[in-house]
Amino acid sequence: MNLPTPLPQRLARRTDLVKRLRKLVDDGGLIHRDEDLVVYECDGLSAYRQAPLAVALPTSAQQVCDILRTCGDLDIPIVPWGAGTGLSGGALPLADGIVLSLARMNRILHVDIDDRAVTVEPGVTNISVTHAVTGHGFYYAPDPSSQIACTIGGNIAENSGGVHCLKYGTTTNNLLGLQLVMADGHIVDIGSAAMERAGYDLLALFTGSEGLLGIITQATLRILPKPQSARALMAAFDTIAAAGGAVADIIGAGIIPAGMEIMDRLSIEAVEQFLGCGYPLGVESLLLVEVDGPEAEVDAQIAAVQDLVRAAGCTEIRQADSPEERQRLWAGRKAAFPAMGRLSPDYYCMDGTIPRGRLPEVLERTSVLSEAYGLRVANVFHAGDGNLHPLVLYDSNAEGELERAEELGAEILKLCVEVGGVLSGEHGIGVEKRDLMPCQLSDDDLDLQEELKRAFDPGLLLNPGKVYPALRTCAEGRMHVHGGRLPFPDLERF
Ligand SMILES: Cc1cc2nc3c(=O)[nH]c(=O)nc-3n(C[C@H](O)[C@H](O)[C@H](O)COP(=O)(O)OP(=O)(O)OC[C@H]3O[C@@H](n4cnc5c(N)ncnc54)[C@H](O)[C@@H]3O)c2cc1C
Repeated sequence: MNLPTPLPQRLARRTDLVKRLRKLVDDGGLIHRDEDLVVYECDGLSAYRQAPLAVALPTSAQQVCDILRTCGDLDIPIVPWGAGTGLSGGALPLADGIVLSLARMNRILHVDIDDRAVTVEPGVTNISVTHAVTGHGFYYAPDPSSQIACTIGGNIAENSGGVHCLKYGTTTNNLLGLQLVMADGHIVDIGSAAMERAGYDLLALFTGSEGLLGIITQATLRILPKPQSARALMAAFDTIAAAGGAVADIIGAGIIPAGMEIMDRLSIEAVEQFLGCGYPLGVESLLLVEVDGPEAEVDAQIAAVQDLVRAAGCTEIRQADSPEERQRLWAGRKAAFPAMGRLSPDYYCMDGTIPRGRLPEVLERTSVLSEAYGLRVANVFHAGDGNLHPLVLYDSNAEGELERAEELGAEILKLCVEVGGVLSGEHGIGVEKRDLMPCQLSDDDLDLQEELKRAFDPGLLLNPGKVYPALRTCAEGRMHVHGGRLPFPDLERF
């Protein structure tokens, strides 16, 4: 097994690297002092931390090419970085590598209302795309709760979703074209604002590729006209299973809401303490439903949803009658993750997807697991598409709680796979779920994926150690040697 690079060698490596990178970027384009690297030690999965050798912040695709070629010469791995809000450790730095931050490539390059397309650099934040077109009556549909901070590059690399993705799809359904810098420094363009494409569907391959196949340096996104009307309602239930039943009834009635989310008692309490957005306390679950489209259709659908949630046994309904009330209803849901700070010093956010019909069973078994591990689990989820976000509450200062939280999280994800679901809905695999991959994919499946990775990145310099486990047994351990390289030599638990 490889050992961590000794400090003197690491420093010599950094000196060499910094000398070369200085020639490629301007003064603001390179961070290498230890005290300045602290902010890049972790992404949103803050349980794992590790400083990189340096951070390069290019301002053009050409600079990205030059940096990749230099790293290739020096055999230095590269971790792409958007805003660092990822929750699966995909942007976790490598101690012997650089972070390649795309944050300074943040221009909106072209807005084409006729073709309903916007071309942006990867560091543009998700919300900025909507801001750029809202005056024309358009918006960008994928809306992760982190949308004021997360970048389009990160969204594409994770195939991010959001509360309004049930009807309009996740990032992959709203992407038209990409410019990429490949591991060997070549620039390629795939897709375009025109709908038809020749050859393989490479856009789909690169969406969700977690920085392992190439660096996104430009993206063309589909924008949609704002719906004429949108209405939201909130329904409270005595049991979470009843709320799950209402979801099945709504979809069964042929209604595809723009968003359909469930929050359990713990999440409601946390959000109310955090934001005070008017959710009722003392109820077991809340179902938020939004329908949008032409006014007449929305009127009919919201009336039908009201009938369906009543028939499913809801104890209270509140309909948002103004855009402000509607935003207040959603603000609570969107703040659910940060709100957990009101209940617990730390939380571990899981992200598994299950067939909708198995929702009551999975929630019941999750609560049994939660009791067995002695840790509370708050449930917030994109109920319409079966994407669960169990939030395991723990205290990192309490001996052994982080490990217990990880084990409980792994058990919940294995449960998702057992009932026919998958390990991730939208947060990606990263380092977090890497060693659970064999629970879902066979050796042959994993071989095929790794062969693809090697075809695009034969030197394994792009985000090595992420996504693919070194050992092919389910959850043998968390940190393993990948492809002969020890990816996390200095990894420290926080
Ligand atoms: C409070 C909170 C709420 C969240 N809510 C949601 C949600 O509702 N839905 C959802 O899907 N996610 C959510 N997330 C997770 C996260 O915001 C998304 O995964 C987001 O897309 C990450 O974007 P980023 O710019 O921060 O990327 P980073 O975290 O910096 O990187 C994520 C991955 O993308 C790679 N990457 C970044 N930029 C590039 C590039 N230009 N080229 C190639 N690879 C690149 C990185 O290497 C890494 O593997 C939430 C996170 C937080 C903290």
